[in-house]
Amino acid sequence: MHILSFDIEEWYIEKRLSGGRAEKYKEFDFYLNKILDILDTYQLKATFFCLGKIASDFPYVVRTIASRGHEIGCHSNEHIWLTRLSPKKLLADTKTAISALEDVCGQKVISYRAPAFSIGETNKWAIEILAECGIELDASVYPAARDFGGFSAFPAAIPCIIRYGSIQLKEFPIGLTTFFGKKIAYSGGGYFRFFPLFYTKHKIQQSEYSVSYFHIGDLMPHKGGMLSQNQYEYYFKEKGTLLNRCKRYIKSNLGTKYTFSKMTRLLNGNHFTNLRDANRQIDWNVTPIIDL
Ligand SMILES: [Zn+2]
Repeated sequence: MHILSFDIEEWYIEKRLSGGRAEKYKEFDFYLNKILDILDTYQLKATFFCLGKIASDFPYVVRTIASRGHEIGCHSNEHIWLTRLSPKKLLADTKTAISALEDVCGQKVISYRAPAFSIGETNKWAIEILAECGIELDASVYPAARDFGGFSAFPAAIPCIIRYGSIQLKEFPIGLTTFFGKKIAYSGGGYFRFFPLFYTKHKIQQSEYSVSYFHIGDLMPHKGGMLSQNQYEYYFKEKGTLLNRCKRYIKSNLGTKYTFSKMTRLLNGNHFTNLRDANRQIDWNVTPIIDL
């Protein structure tokens, strides 16, 4: 089972960080339509995890994705890492996001991915809040250490049931590989851009389970220049030193020139599905139960 997902946030991030340049919005629209066309060509249905703010500020984006038959999931309201929210704030953020998304897409939203996979050891309580908001399927666990998030103590990299007190949530953790002794993702974001396509394809074909995830920004050849100190600090909530900004610039631009065609070649001939359909195919009686 191979999950295909997209995190949809660029329009709102552009608005917050750069004031909203018309040519950038047009570029995002162009790449979104290109993605939707490719998915039609290969008859694939993905989960698009969208910010609530995309639904409230750019409703046509969510409406377009939903009208092409894809699942709309929730990617928080404003893309604030969950590790920076109190339980009360997470509850409000998730409720606002889900209600904005459901109003626009006309589907019940049952799938969730935290910004930057920010559910980990310190905020396991987030599971309870997501369940309270009607979330049934979660794809927020990155079961290894990573920048901004990661849940290295999480013991499974396959679909499983998370149990937290009396709450149960179906979890689709990110599938990992080992690279120079370090566990990392191989089919998403910067990891997909970094690994050669033959490696990622081979890994997926060898595995019974994988999760691929992309952002519009991963697929655009020209993402723009380095973030200013203010932009960096607003977004990453850490010191916007020249070194930090340079590292981020290199990470987010690595390989973007070729990524769209690389993704297209990955999708061609491989069977991918979305969370909603995967949920129906899994026999949850035999998946591991992880007590948090
Ligand atoms: Zn995101």
